[in-house]
This record gives sequence, C-alpha cells and structure tokens, in this order.
Amino acid sequence: MKRLALSIAVALTALTTPAHALPAEIEQAVTAVTPRMIAWRRDIHQHPELGNRETRTAALVARHLRSLRLDEVRTGVARTGVVGILRGGRPGPIIALRADMDALPVTEQVDVPFKSTVRTTYNGQDVGVMHACGHDTHVAIMMAAAEVLARRRAELAGTVMFIFQPAEEGPPFGEEGGAELMLKEGLFNPPMRPEAVFALHATNRESGRIYTRTEGLLAGSERIRILVKGRQTHAARPHEGIDPITIAGQILTGLQTIPSRQMNAVEQPVVISIGRINGGIRHNIIPPEVEMMGTMRVLDEGIRDDIHARITRMASEIAAASGAEAEVSFHEPNPVTVNERVATRRGMQAVRAALGDDAVVEIPPIMGAEDFSFFAREVPGFFFFFGVNAPGVADAPPNHSPLFSVYEPGLQTGLKAMLAVALDRLSVPAGAAASGTP
Ligand SMILES: [Zn+2]
Ligand SMILES: [Zn+2]
Repeated sequence: MKRLALSIAVALTALTTPAHALPAEIEQAVTAVTPRMIAWRRDIHQHPELGNRETRTAALVARHLRSLRLDEVRTGVARTGVVGILRGGRPGPIIALRADMDALPVTEQVDVPFKSTVRTTYNGQDVGVMHACGHDTHVAIMMAAAEVLARRRAELAGTVMFIFQPAEEGPPFGEEGGAELMLKEGLFNPPMRPEAVFALHATNRESGRIYTRTEGLLAGSERIRILVKGRQTHAARPHEGIDPITIAGQILTGLQTIPSRQMNAVEQPVVISIGRINGGIRHNIIPPEVEMMGTMRVLDEGIRDDIHARITRMASEIAAASGAEAEVSFHEPNPVTVNERVATRRGMQAVRAALGDDAVVEIPPIMGAEDFSFFAREVPGFFFFFGVNAPGVADAPPNHSPLFSVYEPGLQTGLKAMLAVALDRLSVPAGAAASGTP
C-alpha cells in the first residue's frame, strides 16, 4: 500500500512538473524563500544608501549570511562590501555571484507603502535617495540565492563566492570604490580565484524573461569634468571680464558634434552627455568659472584615447577662442562589459532549460555601463538583465528615473535564472570548462 501510494505520488509529480523547470527541490526552495525575498527588497528599498555608504544594507546582508552559516563572511571589503563563501560538500569549481548594493541621488516619485523618504546632501545639493536602478532587487535576490544554495550545501559541487558590492554607480568624487577596489584588495587572488563570475540587473522590460548577448553587452564609460576658467565681472559690463557661462554653452553644443560630425556613425558609436553644469551665484554677476560634468560611452575600447583627445581639443580651443581656459579631465573609467562566449552560451542554455525557450531574449549592445566589467575582465563573465515591468506595461520609466518601479513577481525570474546559471556552472568539474563548447 505504501509502495502504491509512493508510485502514485511519483506519477503525479511527473504529470505536474513542467517541461522547463529547475530540479523540484530547488523550485520548492524558491517558492519558500520568495515572500522573504520580497520583504528584504522592500526593506532595502525604504532605506537606500549611496555608494560607499551602504552600512545598513551591508549589516543586513552579513547578518543573513551568518545565519546561513556560510564558511566565511567578510565585511568591510572595499569599504562597505560583504563577501560570503559557501563550500559545497562535493568537489567542483569556484564561481562568483555578484550583487551591487548602492542607490542613487534621486527623489522617489513612485507611490508605494515602502517609498523612500531618505534625503542627503550630494555635491552640495539637498536631494532624495532612491533605489532607482533596482540594486535593492539584486541584493534581495542574491540573499535568496545564498539561502537556497546554503540549504543544499551537502549536495553542492564546488564553492560559491557571493559578492555584495558597494558603489557600482561610482564612489563619491575623490574616493575609490566598487568592483575595481574589490579586485585591488585581492578579491580574486588565488586560491579564491573564481572560474566564472555572474551578475544580473533589473531592467524596464517585460518580466518573466532575461535579456543579454554574447561579447560586448554594455558600453565603456568615463566621467568627464571640464572646468572653464574666465574672469569675473559685473553682468552689465561683460567686456571687462571673460564670461565662462557663454563659453560653457558653446562647449556644450561643440561636444555634440564629436559623435555626430567626427565619428563614423555605424562603426564608432559614441555618446557624450553633460549632466551637470555649475557656475554663478547671482543673476547679475558673471562668475569666474563654470564646472561641467558629464559622461562618455564607447563600445570599442580602441577609440577611447581618441575620444579623450577630441573632447579636450573641443573644450580647450573653444575656450581659447574667447581668451579663457578649459581644464579637461577624465575619471572612473569602466571598461566595456564583455560577456565571455562559452560562459554566456552555457548560461543562456541553462536559463532556457529552467524557464522555457522564450525566456532568453538576445538584445543588441546598450550604452549603459557597469563596473561588473572589471570582474569580467579578470575571469569569464556572464551578465544578464531581467525584466521588472508589470504585465502589459510596455513603456515603463527606465532605470535612474524617479518613477522607476519594480513588478515584484519579476524577482522570482531573476532568482531562478541566477540559480540555473550557477548550478549549471557548478556541474562542470574544476578547470574543465575553458575550452568546452556547450
Ligand atoms: Zn544604474
Ligand atoms: Zn545598476
């Protein structure tokens, strides 16, 4: 009788298990952890912290990882980062999973009960703080992934490094931070050098799917600073000074002719954007100087130096034409994010097997940038987006918008995809995957 009941149960499971799924125990663990994953996300969302200041988020993460009894939990990595090490019960490769923790100086306009009301002073201005890039979802998903994998530690082959990274959006001006600082501190030094590194990112696309591509996925970026130095005077007597505001206006439009008039539009896509101009105190005083801050994006590392030279020439020669000077400097270079071919093909295949053939959408490169590129420059990397739009919403506000909002069931897709990718890669014996084409 007992045997009959068991065989009926097995037959029922076979009938109800969908064609595309993770192993049944993992699916169950995902279902079990989901309500807490959503709760963590809301808590982090309501308490956002800027780059290199993620102390509350880091404490929450560290407490959770310690409760899972990971083999190692390191805090204060690259200032506020947390790294957890989980050693499985069976031999296998070392892999790394990364979640970024920082929020943005954006004042939230999304009307949810856990809306952020946090404010701070950023570059001398009073602003709100918001998880406008969805990093709250990344932290919650990675906490859930750590829990699912830690509970299956005995069967797990290999070692998983969970990287909770500070300051992905860039550290405060004048500070070091992010992925680059983690590596500088030796995160990937032997014997803990992973064979692959994976990360996900929320995006305003249809939920239930992931979006990615092999090779170059995200642009290389760099912060631009231009200091226009004129000579202060009364606004009614401009001829007695050198007006840096007018010159900054000329530089602003001049810079746009670099991508549109100087580069090959098909082969050398370039974006130059100025996002902040600061100069002057009063309507009738011409200030001595104006500071312009912006960003440049390239998809080809080979043209980065050339773009520097063109920006510098444009700004300094426009300034010189009016008798002023322009100091141009470049900061925080992020490399192009390259998805290694074998890791990416494997990852996409694992997600299709777990979530369905149409769950992976291959997309063209995008001009956003990610400091995950530093990790992926060291070891084979696979980076993918997961959709967070509510069903039927096609044109939701993008990342960094004060209206960026997350359809929370989409988090489960992110979690399942990350688990599928991780478990698949752990199934490859240590040292064996470099040449293997899936
Ligand atoms: Zn962002
Ligand atoms: Zn982001």
